[in-house]
Amino acid sequence: MLKNNLGYPRAGAHRELKKACESFWSGKTGKEDLLVTSRKLKEENWTTQQDAGIDLIPCNDFSFYDQVLDMSLLLGVIPERYNPVVTSVKGNSELDLYFAMARGYQKDGLDITAMEMTKWFDTNYHYIVPEFTAKQPFRVFSQKLFAEFIAAKQFIGRVPKPVLIGPVSYLLLGKEKETGFEKIDLIKKLLPVYIEILKSLKGYGAEWVQLDEPFLTLDLSEKDKEAFIYTYREINKQCPGLKILIATYFEGLTENTEWALDLPVNAIHLDLVRAPEQLNFVLRHVPEKLTLSLGVVDGRNIWKNDYEQSVGLIRKAINAIGKSRVMIAPSCSLLHTPFDLDLETSLEEEVKNWMAFAKQKLNEVNEIGQIIEGNEALLEVNKLAIESRRLSNLIHKPCVKQRTAAITDVQAQRLSIFTDRQKIQDEQFKFPLFPTTTIGSFPQTDDIRQLRARLKKGELTSSQYDEAIKNATIEAIRWQEEIGLDVLVHGEFERNDMVEYFGEQLDGFLFTKNGWVQSYGSRCVKPPVIYGDVSRPEDMTVKWSSFAQANTDKPMKGMLTGPVTILQWSFVRNDQPRSETANQIALAIRDEVIALENAGIKIIQIDEPAIREGLPLRKKERAAYLDWAVKAFRISASGVRDETQIHTHMCYSEFNGIIEHIAAMDADVITIETSRSQMELLEAFSDFKYPNEIGPGVYDIHSPRVPAVGEMVDLLEKAAAILPVRNLWVNPDCGLKTRKWPETKEALMHMVNAARQARALFENSITIH
Ligand code: GLN
Ligand code: ZN
Repeated sequence: MLKNNLGYPRAGAHRELKKACESFWSGKTGKEDLLVTSRKLKEENWTTQQDAGIDLIPCNDFSFYDQVLDMSLLLGVIPERYNPVVTSVKGNSELDLYFAMARGYQKDGLDITAMEMTKWFDTNYHYIVPEFTAKQPFRVFSQKLFAEFIAAKQFIGRVPKPVLIGPVSYLLLGKEKETGFEKIDLIKKLLPVYIEILKSLKGYGAEWVQLDEPFLTLDLSEKDKEAFIYTYREINKQCPGLKILIATYFEGLTENTEWALDLPVNAIHLDLVRAPEQLNFVLRHVPEKLTLSLGVVDGRNIWKNDYEQSVGLIRKAINAIGKSRVMIAPSCSLLHTPFDLDLETSLEEEVKNWMAFAKQKLNEVNEIGQIIEGNEALLEVNKLAIESRRLSNLIHKPCVKQRTAAITDVQAQRLSIFTDRQKIQDEQFKFPLFPTTTIGSFPQTDDIRQLRARLKKGELTSSQYDEAIKNATIEAIRWQEEIGLDVLVHGEFERNDMVEYFGEQLDGFLFTKNGWVQSYGSRCVKPPVIYGDVSRPEDMTVKWSSFAQANTDKPMKGMLTGPVTILQWSFVRNDQPRSETANQIALAIRDEVIALENAGIKIIQIDEPAIREGLPLRKKERAAYLDWAVKAFRISASGVRDETQIHTHMCYSEFNGIIEHIAAMDADVITIETSRSQMELLEAFSDFKYPNEIGPGVYDIHSPRVPAVGEMVDLLEKAAAILPVRNLWVNPDCGLKTRKWPETKEALMHMVNAARQARALFENSITIH
């Protein structure tokens, strides 16, 4: 039985790739250093997979920034605005072009915006969205795929399995940059390039090629379906002798099962963690000769595999189609899991024994194979770990369970309706038109990060640490006052990460030392692990928020992370429904909101950037999710008086189809990411006549580029054309923690100026009620 792996995390166990990229971007090191680091990381990964006995070892799963951007470069899908990066700047190479597309380019007299970024399905990974035009040309452009295949083959001394995003999914991931065509119609032009690539791979000695087609698990149109059938028939016809494995993940094939199984390929990979129930149906319809790769080891979470369950699924398949047609695999690429549990030396042994990271998951794939071959002892050891977790009293807290069971509808309801609250709040705050604010964090400079590191190492006492953070906070407050922002933030200098900070103070969470997972580009996050019932032993943010408020007469926003985001950006329990965990967190946040109000904080922002990404991929499951997610937010926000203004914030969100639920969250003010999409994301709000106040982002904070005042005024005018001016706020797309101070200061000064100009433009044209 072949053991198959779909992809491996690439950042390095100690985020080596992040460091190498950032050092390259800042000009501290050259291209050579970056290439050496990446080569080393790839080789380490190949060795790990080889040692774990993986038969189909992926290659081309490495990426400097993002695997979808890699595909765009491979296929020559390079928006015209990037031409000058290579044509007019001497010495620039493909890598410079690549990073320009990812991050924008603002030097050498050029000023080019980055490509859009959006969430990869329902994960917290972000990909760079391909841009298509009606006459979109395709051609083999980058050689990276081939170079990596050759390098891997040479290194492991065996034929690796190149991984590509399949042609149909690649098109569906992209965006139409002009009207008058449908991206899926580009398949006829795109496919010959894929075929050329596949033929080259075969020429280099490839045997298996993995084409990721996650869209096969989604709701598809008739046209999408035809594109799939056409694509794989052509590939089958034109690339004889190459074994094609289609990888599906994050959902089951459901109504696409029968025709998907009939695609003329050699193997299909199924996610049996998300959709174990699909196996029976698949086995009934699987055509002769098709091999099934069964994803039984969870590629999205950190819990130890339940071997009994996995072995059951694999045996069922073997009984139906025979061993030679079954592969064992993780459910999806291991990109979404941290590297190596062995590096976690300070986790409690009892809990550590319940967990598995990428490296351990490979081993699980291997052990499941051994059990199938008769090694029953492995099964027994695993059973003990699974039982120990189920019964542990580290997990179960009766008082927490009772409190969530007793939640009432009243707890999820503000005292008055929005229009009444708005009047009361207007009275109180007397903001100008287009009030300005930021999303919360200010640059986390090396100095600030070092403070935390030194505190951890014991080189700083906690009062020395507090002192330094206080100074940074006061400096940020003074500066915000100076440039004239209306609602201030304290800057979140005391926070490592918006989820980790809360998890560390809540019971039921644990933290890893090296459990990093890539979020976008060089940015990695270290999701907390929710292993038990959640409760809040003490105030979490009151100290810092009241300190900041005491240092200014302007309103200071209290900053919290919402329950759905905490849930979404953590590794969650798989032993109870997500909704139950969400409610536990919601009650903890609710208590914190009330504590902030009692401490005199008048504006409280509860960030929910992840509410959209938690949306089930399949339409029929969405309503149920939105119901409990919106309710969890409302539980957290509704314990306050009418005069307390609740903000929420979301980023990289596509609101079409969920706008009524966003409105149902009933935040007094919502700030969202809109600048990269040129306010397109706002359309959902205007079509719906979104009733509450809204701050569409006018400053793309994911790029170091400083937008000009005029650009931001334009964006505000666009917003004002479709939404009531009196409801508009002015703010960046998101927090500024990943930015540097100089660009941040310049951009925010431009933003305040833009708000002033917008006021001048609109002041006379509206009457405030
Ligand atoms: N308040 C957070 C910050 O500014 C929000 C971050 C986010 O939305 N991802 O950093
Ligand atoms: Zn954000």
